[in-house]
Amino acid sequence: EQPKNRKPDWLRVKLPVGKEYAKVRSIVDENKLHTICESGNCPNMGECWGAGTATFMILGNVCTRSCSFCAVATGRPNEYDVDEPRRVAEAIKTMGVKHAVITSVNRDELKDRGAAIWHETVVLIKELSPLTTIETLIPDVKANWEALEVMISAGQEVVSHNMETVGSLYRMVRPQAKYDRSLEQIRRTKEYGKRTKTGIMLGLGEKKEEVYQAMDDLAANGLDILTLGQYLQPTKRHIEVAEFIHPDLFAHYKEEGLRRGLKYVESGPLVRSSYHAERHVHV
Ligand code: SF4
Ligand code: SF4
Repeated sequence: EQPKNRKPDWLRVKLPVGKEYAKVRSIVDENKLHTICESGNCPNMGECWGAGTATFMILGNVCTRSCSFCAVATGRPNEYDVDEPRRVAEAIKTMGVKHAVITSVNRDELKDRGAAIWHETVVLIKELSPLTTIETLIPDVKANWEALEVMISAGQEVVSHNMETVGSLYRMVRPQAKYDRSLEQIRRTKEYGKRTKTGIMLGLGEKKEEVYQAMDDLAANGLDILTLGQYLQPTKRHIEVAEFIHPDLFAHYKEEGLRRGLKYVESGPLVRSSYHAERHVHV
């Protein structure tokens, strides 16, 4: 029996070293950019950065929300940086990635939820790197559907929005979000004609039936791609891991998701929504 707070072996990861890693490090620093890889203490940095890829986080590094699992700083963000889209696009060009994933903090205080900056970022990436495909992992627009349309209409191939957890845990995990509203955002994204994707973290105390329910709800709302991964506590101040889910159960959930009609399910302890994202473009 493992002590509750000790990670099982299947969560061991590669250390971040190597030439590609150093290159990504310098591109991020030189362009004064933020990545969710770092802000979220992602365990896959060795692998992803080592392969020359990273997930940029736009609209600053201070979030108006306070999700209990998330290591991004909460507070009142500064004015946003209007030059950020250009720097992101240039960094992606320098990195030469075939597929780019962009995410952002929530900017609930902005009327357009940051949609203009989102749109411009995608347009500029496409301008500078026409062959690069793009996934935008967008925030909850809080039912501002006009903002949603601006965010998703810039030519990106995949639009993801993370549900993060099952409905019963929203109050504890994502207090400023609503399960049904996030489902609606996914449904509207699909209706707009986009390839849709979401991520759910396991090990927060959810029951199996609740995971099945979430998959049913997602299938009914037009979801194409689902990622399931183990929640890891980024610091002692964050919500505790309730359970380390065995890889066999991850494999079982994958089958259940596919059986429910989802087109693609990536499921495993170290899966993050931006992990192996290049595989999701042609789904
Ligand atoms: Fe970054 Fe995503 Fe890779 Fe983690 S899985 S290191 S967040 S690109
Ligand atoms: Fe973190 Fe996103 Fe929640 Fe902000 S909205 S606290 S960035 S998970």
